[in-house]
Amino acid sequence: MLEMRDLRLAFGPHTVLDGIGLDVRPGERIGVIGPSGAGKSTLLRLAAGLLRPDEGTCHNTFQRTRLVFQEPRLLPWRSVADNLDIALRAGGVPAGEIAARRERWLARVGLADAARAWPGELSGGMAQRAALARALALEPDLLLLDEPFSALDPALRADLGRLCAEQARATGAALVCISHQPWELAGLVDRILLVADGRVREQAAPFGRPDEPAAGAPPSPPAGP
Ligand code: ATP
Ligand code: MG
Repeated sequence: MLEMRDLRLAFGPHTVLDGIGLDVRPGERIGVIGPSGAGKSTLLRLAAGLLRPDEGTCHNTFQRTRLVFQEPRLLPWRSVADNLDIALRAGGVPAGEIAARRERWLARVGLADAARAWPGELSGGMAQRAALARALALEPDLLLLDEPFSALDPALRADLGRLCAEQARATGAALVCISHQPWELAGLVDRILLVADGRVREQAAPFGRPDEPAAGAPPSPPAGP
């Protein structure tokens, strides 16, 4: 369970989070939308333990939390396979299981043939798939996704979104996904939070594309500044 309460965080004079809270229970899948600069990425970094709040409390009792960033952040001087293996070893996966996990996950993201490639030889989409495989191979119980597919083409975005949703359902993992395209979250999450000015402003059920509204769907959220 992740419990974030009354979080405040400033970078210098600039208050980024202003009393925000977020609870994530096992198996829950939550989308986060909101204007640029609202503090969404900062919130996920706090959840992942990469930052500490100035005030408020953040308790994460999930065993394995993985954060996937908008950029792949692969180790540049290691092969794709090594990138997964290093993460799996660091995550405590038994040595005898590492190769099988790596192969299974590279295949699931369509990178079975790229295991020996250097990250610099991959296209942006391939690198992002490798980063996702590295995260999912650890079988996280809390998966934090910070717009990980925003640079990819729509078909690939949909595929990888489905993969994350399937994996979360199959393992009972909790998931928090930031997106600028709320309709992308429709098959992936159970509820959506609108974050603005460092606080949660609204909660909504997931909704479809504006041109194909689901019955009873709430109106689109306001555009950012
Ligand atoms: P976007 O949708 O553009 O990704 P966001 O909601 O994820 O935006 P954050 O990345 O959380 O926004 O940033 C919130 C604010 O905090 C921004 O004004 C940003 O400039 C500032 N900020 C974030 N990280 C730092 C940092 N390490 N040092 C100083 N300011 C920062
Ligand atoms: Mg961000």
